[in-house]
Amino acid sequence: MTRYRCVPIGTDIAERFRRSGRDDFDNPVRTVTATDASGFPCRQCLCCADPGEPMLLGSYDFGRPRGIYWAPSPIFLHARSCGSFVTADVVAPILRANTLVSVRSYDAADLCLYDLGHVCPGAEIDAPLLRALGDPRTAFVNVHTARPGCLLSRVERMTASPSAAP
Ligand SMILES: [Zn+2]
Repeated sequence: MTRYRCVPIGTDIAERFRRSGRDDFDNPVRTVTATDASGFPCRQCLCCADPGEPMLLGSYDFGRPRGIYWAPSPIFLHARSCGSFVTADVVAPILRANTLVSVRSYDAADLCLYDLGHVCPGAEIDAPLLRALGDPRTAFVNVHTARPGCLLSRVERMTASPSAAP
């Protein structure tokens, strides 16, 4: 079985957004109030905001892919400090809750592997995600919202941890 983890925004970056009120491109971070249970996905805890929760909206330089396929993304963050998602081998709640996601696979040179790309409801992401992660060409997978195209989470393969047993 391919082991994987959904990678949240770094705590240092999330706290910088909260503390400075500025995003990765020096835009003022906007504060909005969540109005429904699935439309405000936090990129740190990778959970959806509850209606009524204050959220921050800013532009995030999520790193890879670099080069030709690089792009920043609008993201929501809880306005309050929240814990980072750390659970392995679990599809993060914000991926599963999204009505339509785009699975995008990239190779070690940060080029898009179009044949592994897939658009489906978040509830049906497991098969295309595992297919992308199981392909030896894949270096990492980014999952975006399919309609606006915002990054939800990077997904990385986990290397096997050494066994304690002989
Ligand atoms: Zn959060």
